[in-house]
Amino acid sequence: MVTTMSRALRYLLAAYVGAVLATKELERRAVLQCGCPSDCWCHRPGSSLFRWVLPIGHGGRA
Ligand SMILES: [Zn+2]
Repeated sequence: MVTTMSRALRYLLAAYVGAVLATKELERRAVLQCGCPSDCWCHRPGSSLFRWVLPIGHGGRA
């Protein structure tokens, strides 16, 4: 039971990290472009990693 859960958690974590890396790569190739205002949280150092996988309060096209 516990093993199954930790396996599922590890799978989810791997999928999440994969999504972060994939979107980061797309952003690097200018496939994805953030149209946010410059005061959006995703412009903070380090936060841009999660720009596409944590769309909370983000993506305002003001
Ligand atoms: Zn943003």
